[in-house]
Parts: sequence; C-alpha cells; structure tokens
Amino acid sequence: MRYVSTRGQAPRLSFDDVLLAGLARDGGLYLPEEWPTLSPEELAGFAGRPYAEVAAAVMRPFLAESCAAEALDDLTARAYSSFARTGTCPLVQLDEGRWLLELFHGPTLAFKDVALQLLGELFDHVLARRGERITIVGATSGDTGSAAIEACRDRERVDIFILHPKGRVSEVQRRQMTTVEAANVHNIAVEGTFDDCQALVKAMFNDPAFRDQQRLAAVNSINFARILAQIVYYVTAAVALGAPHRRVAFSVPTGNFGNVFAGYAAKRMGLPVERLIVGSNSNDILTRFFETGAMEAQGVIPTLSPSMDIQVSSNFERLLFDLLDGDGAAVAREMERFKQSGRFAVERSRLERALETFSGARYDDARTRAEIARVRRETGLLVDPHSAIGIAAGRELHGKSDVPLISLATAHPAKFPDAVEAATGERPALPERLADLYERPERCTALPNDLAEVEAYVRAHSRAGERAPSA
Ligand SMILES: *Cc1c(COP(=O)(O)O)cnc(C)c1O
Repeated sequence: MRYVSTRGQAPRLSFDDVLLAGLARDGGLYLPEEWPTLSPEELAGFAGRPYAEVAAAVMRPFLAESCAAEALDDLTARAYSSFARTGTCPLVQLDEGRWLLELFHGPTLAFKDVALQLLGELFDHVLARRGERITIVGATSGDTGSAAIEACRDRERVDIFILHPKGRVSEVQRRQMTTVEAANVHNIAVEGTFDDCQALVKAMFNDPAFRDQQRLAAVNSINFARILAQIVYYVTAAVALGAPHRRVAFSVPTGNFGNVFAGYAAKRMGLPVERLIVGSNSNDILTRFFETGAMEAQGVIPTLSPSMDIQVSSNFERLLFDLLDGDGAAVAREMERFKQSGRFAVERSRLERALETFSGARYDDARTRAEIARVRRETGLLVDPHSAIGIAAGRELHGKSDVPLISLATAHPAKFPDAVEAATGERPALPERLADLYERPERCTALPNDLAEVEAYVRAHSRAGERAPSA
C-alpha cells in the first residue's frame, strides 16, 4: 500500500515514511492510494472478538508491508492493554436506539489515547527496525499533550517535548502532563499563549538544521496513523449493533474533523454507515460549511469544550480531496485560496455529495450545559461538554429514525469537572488509578517565548545525537 498527498505533488510514501513524516512535503495530508474493503463476511466475523484483534484485522492491509501479521497482533495487544476496561471502547445504552461509545478509558481519559497508544507502539516498531531515534515536539492546549506523553513515555527511541502556555491549561490537564515520571518526557511551560506555543513548534520544524539534527517528528492529528487507529472503533461499535446486517449512524463532537473523518473512512471501507452527524461548539466552521458549502475562518472563541476551540479544521482537507474527485492540484488551489483569504467554497453538486453522508449542528455553552443536565436527568450519566455536544447533535438531527445512533463520548467527565458541576451540581470523581493526581509531584520547565532558548533546551535534553539501540 502506498500513500498519496492530498495536494498531489509530494512523493508517494510507504506506511513507515508516512508515520514519521506527518505532513506531506507539498503541505498536503497523506491518504491511502486506495481504501481496502471489509466484506460483509469479515465484518460479521468481528462480532464478539477482542478489540485488539479487530484492530489488527482492520489495520492489516494499511501496513502489511511495514509490519508482519504477528508483530501487528503484538502491537495492538500492547497498545490496548493499558485501557481500564477490557472492552476498550465500550458501548453504553442511552435509551431506545441510542448508544454512547465511551472512548475515554485510556490512560489520560480522552479519546486521543485510542490512537496515540497505538502510535507510540508503531514508532518503537519502525524505529527499532531502522536503528533510529526521533524527537517529538508538540504544542498543546490540553488533551493532545497528555495523550502524547503517555504514549511515548519510557520509549527507548523517542524523546518528547510538549509545550503548553504557562498558567493557561486546566489543572487536571497540566497535572496529567507534568506528573509523568519518565526520563524521556519534557514539559515546557511557555510564557505566552497557545498560539505562541504553536508558533514555536512550527518554527522548530521550519529550521532545517535543527529539524534534521533532532530528527523531529509530530504526533498531531494530521498523522494518518491516528486516523487509521480511529477507524477501528467505528467498526467494533457498528458490528456490536448488528452491522453488516443493520445500518448505523454516528454523531461526533469534532473540531479538526479528525475523528469523524475516521468514520467516513470506515464507510468507504464498506461499513454500513447511514449518516455522520458533526457536533460543533461556537467555533462552528464545519457546521457552516455543511450549511453553505463555504469554509470560512473566524476568530477562535473560548468555550466549555476547549479541545474543539479551533479556527481551521485541518483534517477536512482529506474529505475535500474526495469531494474534488482526487484532484490534488485543485485541492492545493483551494487550500492556497484559504490561506490567502481565509475562505474557499465548493460547487453545489459537491456539497450535495457531502450532505449525503454528513450533517452538522452547533451548540453554544448555554446549550451545552443544558444538554449535560438533560443527559444526567434522563439517563443518570454524567458526560463531559465535548460528548454532550455530540449527543445533542445526534438527538437534533437523527430524529426518530429507526437506524441505531451511536454518539461518541470523547472525554471522561472528570476531565472537565467545573463544567459538569456547573451543569448538574455534581462533581465527577477521577477514576481510581488517577485519584492521587493532585498529590503527585510535578516536573516542568518554564521558558520564555523565545525560539533560541526552546531549541537550546531541546538540544540539551534529547538523545538525538546518541546511537539508537537496534532491534
Ligand atoms: C481532540 C478532542 C476532540 C476533537 O477531536 P477532532 O480530532 O477534532 O475530531 C473532541 N473531544 C475531545 C475530548 C478531544 O480531546
């Protein structure tokens, strides 16, 4: 299997190279040249099998050349052994015909663990074979940083540096990053905003000497391996509710379009997905696109669901590639237009094609709070603000269809205790294995918003110059 860039200019790459490259050299995102298919018999055969086994089976065609079948079985088994429940991504019934897919049972209590735990294993596997090391640098406003740290901690060939804006992430989120005791984990609190952190990371990647010397790699949601890992839970959830014999619908809280794109990929592979419902917060660029066919950036509004506070949905480019019939030059043109003017639009017929699968709805903080309260009242469950937006969008747009609706729960309520308490009067408790989070010692280095200082810190603490152990 080869991978192509959405902008059509970068070289085709193998899975290993896509994993380590992240973004394509032409600025595009990688996609498989062809989507493998899951036959109805294969889907039916997944029923009742352990999550890690289904994961290996779904992913096998994508990385067959990179990973022998047995090695892949080991990778998925290890990646998902850390999940609190043996079900890994369990389904909980909300009411008749409506289900919640709980994706927050990994080490950092957010759905990003599902992909990043696997990514950590894949990095180790590929780097061991090549006898190489990498240095991961990333900026976080919350969930991604801790999930990436947990995925990379103690790995022999990976050093990880996560920048967060000092004093501007929630206490739970900060502690989840800074209390990890591992020599290869480095937290940097930047005296600045999240945008400053992102700009620093971008500048490090744009410094060729530094990038090559440190073997920089990224773990953000444009990495195709993350999408790949996320396809799996769409499959297990649909099969649990009767696929391939029965169709299902999903509602997904999203900002970057990464999670819901994995649902689209599952549909492309043959999963009977009737509809993908996208829930946005007040940063509703996606909902507006589905209403008008125009993608238009606006300023970011801080909300109760900070992991969806984005201005640009970077993974949307992968859907755009399909809507423009795989014409990389056309994608590049639209993305350039967007970069210049903050806007691009697709023709009516192309929008209509998107609307055959997607619909979207937006929820401001007041409606998000109301939904958290309603779910508590009607089902007894506490849900986090992101999950509540997905549930609300499903309720509003799926209506009375007799196709089962699966809403994706992307964070544990205890990750956003203030919002949940404000809506319900109840403060959700952290799961037992994190119960002492507030007592654990923190490790973090404060640095000024200065590229030279941050680069010097990374250089001094990474092992990029040392010889890597080979497998
Ligand atoms: C990252 C995140 C999201 C949004 O994910 P996308 O990749 O933008 O779809 C939603 N909820 C939570 C809790 C997250 O951490």
